[in-house]
Formats: sequence, structure tokens, C-alpha cells
Amino acid sequence: MSFYWAEAEIGGGLVPDELTSQVNPHLSCMKGTESRNGCRCVALGGEIGQATACTMYEKRPSPCREFEYSGYLGIANPDCDKARAHHGLAPLPIIYVAPAA
Ligand code: SF4
Repeated sequence: MSFYWAEAEIGGGLVPDELTSQVNPHLSCMKGTESRNGCRCVALGGEIGQATACTMYEKRPSPCREFEYSGYLGIANPDCDKARAHHGLAPLPIIYVAPAA
């Protein structure tokens, strides 16, 4: 899960520098997500399978802002399902919730 390096504070963005790792000269990622296997973002608080939340939600990078949980607006997200399966969790139910007017 990488993003343009300038989304971090050092580039004028919001993402705290100390929570990022450099992927290459152009991209950074959240610490803990450098590997595809066994990754857990350093900013994820709580216990997976019980209750979790992003501890820097207002400062999260663009990939996190663009990622919808499976079931949002009645649309499945296979990437969400895959991430949950990685932790032994079933896909979320698909329930349509109308957006606020
Ligand atoms: S939403 Fe927050 S906890 Fe989840 S990957 Fe993004 S920064 Fe990490």
C-alpha cells in the first residue's frame, strides 16, 4: 500500500513522517505494510477480529481514503474480502445503506 511521498509531512502532506517507510524515490508506504505477507499498518489500533480503528484517520494517505469496505453502498470489494480472509475473517455482508442526502 504505497502513496506519493509528498503525502507525508516532509513533502507538505498530512501523514506523519515517523509512520512511513520509503519504498523508492517517489513512493512511501505506511510502516508495517512494506511486505505483502503478514502486514499490519503501524497506525491500526485495536485487535483484529474484535474492534479496530485507524489511529490517524484524519491524516491517512490517499489509498486509505479511496478504499471502501466491502458492502459499502451495496458493492463488494474483493480486496477487502481478501484482506479479511488473510486474518481468517469472513467477508462483510453486503448491505445497502443510502448515502446521506
Ligand atoms: S486507514 Fe489508517 S490504519 Fe488503515 S492502512 Fe490506512 S493509515 Fe493504516
